[in-house]
Parts: sequence; structure tokens; C-alpha cells
Amino acid sequence: MAYCGPGAASHGRSTHRERGWMKSVCIAYGLGCPRAAVDSARLSEYVRANRWPVANRIEEADVILVTLCGYNADQEERSIHLLDSADRRRKPGSKLVVVGCLAGIAADRLRASYDADLVPPVDGADLDGILGATVPLDAIADPNEIEPYIRSAESYLDDTDRHPGDGRVKSVMRRALVDSGARELLRRRQWKRELIHLVRRERVFSIRVAEGCAGQCTFCAIRFAAGPLRSKPLEAVLSEFDAGLAGGYKHFRLIAGDLGCYGQDIGTTVAELLHLMMQRTGDFELTLLDFNLKWFIAYSDSLLDVLSRNRARLRSLTLPMQSGSDRVLQRMRRGHTARDAQTALRALRQACPQVDLNTQVLVGFPGETEDDFEDTLKVLRAVRFDWVQFYDYQDRPGTEASDMPGKVARDVIRARSLRARRETGLRRAALEYRLTRTPEDRLAARRVKRLSETAGTAGDRGPRTG
Ligand code: SF4
Repeated sequence: MAYCGPGAASHGRSTHRERGWMKSVCIAYGLGCPRAAVDSARLSEYVRANRWPVANRIEEADVILVTLCGYNADQEERSIHLLDSADRRRKPGSKLVVVGCLAGIAADRLRASYDADLVPPVDGADLDGILGATVPLDAIADPNEIEPYIRSAESYLDDTDRHPGDGRVKSVMRRALVDSGARELLRRRQWKRELIHLVRRERVFSIRVAEGCAGQCTFCAIRFAAGPLRSKPLEAVLSEFDAGLAGGYKHFRLIAGDLGCYGQDIGTTVAELLHLMMQRTGDFELTLLDFNLKWFIAYSDSLLDVLSRNRARLRSLTLPMQSGSDRVLQRMRRGHTARDAQTALRALRQACPQVDLNTQVLVGFPGETEDDFEDTLKVLRAVRFDWVQFYDYQDRPGTEASDMPGKVARDVIRARSLRARRETGLRRAALEYRLTRTPEDRLAARRVKRLSETAGTAGDRGPRTG
């Protein structure tokens, strides 16, 4: 499995290769996405293959590998809170290893504050040297049923370790809201399927088809940590798929940094992959995550052909649109226009009316005006996605967007974000979003409200630095 990525120069402070110094390992899962979850699950198999004993608690471990995320500044703060806790709880002389994107996105900050080895996804093979592995990470296949690994890895860090400033009460309220998700689902078209999934705890067979990404989005720091696109060979993906079908799985989830660019580095495409998967017999459904719209537009003819002929097998598709404004899409370097996106999404709705169509929107990108934001709302109203994940724009280290002029004030971003959630009918998400307000945000929100009441407008037309 040569595609698993080269070992770059180690980021760690100390690289012990002596055998026998390590008594037990703890794989703790702090924060991350489906890709990070696959990486964490694979680390558990790596520990098993190297016959390293597993510690029951952080306090007992000789090595603590903690998965942390840093896709935006708020997430970085949550991760740092978790890392502080793990660092406080670990025993003297133990080794702390930060894995996951945070290790690549916030490396300077981590090096300045922690005695830890930093191993971002692109440098995963560095763990072999750091831990003195006899079975290299590159020899470890991706597990396919991820949830059990994550449930156990999450148990090393409990609620008191999580959500800085939220405190126990808020995290309990948040959990109640999350658990009440059923109410939201019941209101939506997909409730029947989701309810089955919730009740049956449906087994999901996850297949990571590629690591890294071919994209150059100006706001994204994930690509620095994940590295360039490394697609899994077609035969390897199909043999995992066949193993899942033989194992009686009905629901398959395809995972990648950007599913849309799958295969571009190995002479194939995501359309060919889906075509070959759909040639398999049997009753199964696919969930396709993180599919950059640019590639859906580029391959739309072949994709719409294979998806429409197999529409019953397509359960869910996430196509992040990020913005509905051509000006903003260009500054984001997303590689497509809002009109192209709408045309492709409309065709998809016609070809696969039953699919759960989800997207992600980045609110408050530098230079975003009220008109740009209106353009985004127009696309959301027109396409009527089944689910929209909104993110507030926040600078990330080393990204071009972080040096761009026209930064939008936080209170304006929050006001737009709240409005977007309300306008797309995501009442629970709007309520949850309000719960994440800091005292400063509350103050600022009151100021915006007062300003708009005195000015009689819903916020100004231009970006406001500050
Ligand atoms: S598609 Fe863009 S946002 Fe997504 S991981 Fe790649 S560079 Fe980042």
C-alpha cells in the first residue's frame, strides 16, 4: 500500500528507537472528522499489530496519541483545551504525541507550549521511528467499521475535558439538543431512513478512498496537514467494497479529503469508481462525503448517468458549496461559478430526487459583502438542501485568505450565520449556535441590533474591518 504517504523529517523533540521502553499506549480521540476517525481507528490496529499493551487510562499510559482538529480557530481552542487536560493527566516521563490535522495546522503553537511529538496525517509514517515500531504504519489497512474504535478512543477524554468555557451544564444541554436531533429528523423528508439508522444503530462500512487533497482553496489549512492527493488504487477500494458486501453490510460511506478528485493521481476518476461499484449486485446504499462541487460539475455527465441509473443506491451526498457569490468563490479559489453549481445541483435533484443532499457554507469570507451573502441565500433557497452545515470564517495559519483585506467583523459574521440557519429552517442549529455565543458576542449582537434599529437597515453593504 505504497500510497500511504512518505515519512517526512520528524516534527518530534525526541525520537526513541530503543525497544522495550514502552509499556502501554493510549489512543485518545479528541476532535476530528470522518478522515481523522479512520486514522484513529487505524492507529488502534497499528498498536495491536506491534503488540503494544493498551492503557486503560491516560494516567497509566507510557505513550498518549491524541487526535485533534484545527479546521477553524474555535475548533483549535477546543482541541487545545483537550490537550491541556491530557497533558495535565499524563504521568511523568510519558510521551505525548499529537496526531490529526492540528499537528500540522498549529505546529508552532504546539511546539511552543507542549513537550510533544507532532505527527500530522501527511507524516503518519514518522510514528514508526518515534515509537520504534516493528510493523510499519504503512502496512496497516484502514479499518472499515469505525464507530467501535472511536467510541473506545473517545472514552479516554470525558465531558469535563471538553468544550472550554462551556462547562458541564452547557455540554449537558448541548448533548440534550444533539440527542433530541430525532425531533429535527422527524421534521425532515429523510426521517424514515434516519430513524431506522438511529434505532437500529445501523452498521456502516466506511471506505477511505484517498488521503490528502488536490485542492488549493485559499481558506483551507487542512491541506497543509493532509498533504497532496494520494488515491487508494481502484482494485483496493473495490476489494474493500466486496468484502463489505460479503460481510452483509448495506450502508457504505466513502471518505476522502475531497471525494471528487479521487483517482486524478492514478489515472482514474470518481465517476469510474462509482460506475464499477454500481456494477456489483445486491441491495446496498452509498453515502458520499465531502465532494467538491468543482469536480461534480466537471464529471457531471458521467456522474449523473451512473447515479440516475442507480438512484435507489444513493442515500446521501455532501457537496460543499461554501458560497453562492461568484466573486467570493473566485477569492476562495473553488474553481466554479454559482450558476454552474446551481445547474449541476438542479440536474442532480431531477436525476436523484430521493437523495439526501447536504452542503457546507462558509460565512464571512474576507471581502464578503451583504450582497454576496444574499447571493448565497438565493442558492440555498433555490436548491433547498436537506442539510446545511454553516461555518464562520476564521483565519487559519499560513492560508492566503488570512492575509486578505476586507475582514468581516465577528458580530456581522455571527448575525449572518444566525440568519442563514433560520432562513434554511435549521431552527435547532440556530438555537445551538446561539448557545455558542461568548459574552463578547452577546454584547456585540446587542450593539448590531441597536445600530440596525437606529439605521433602520439589517447590517451594512460593505465588509467592515475590525
Ligand atoms: S477541497 Fe479545498 S477545502 Fe477541501 S480539503 Fe481540499 S483544499 Fe481544503
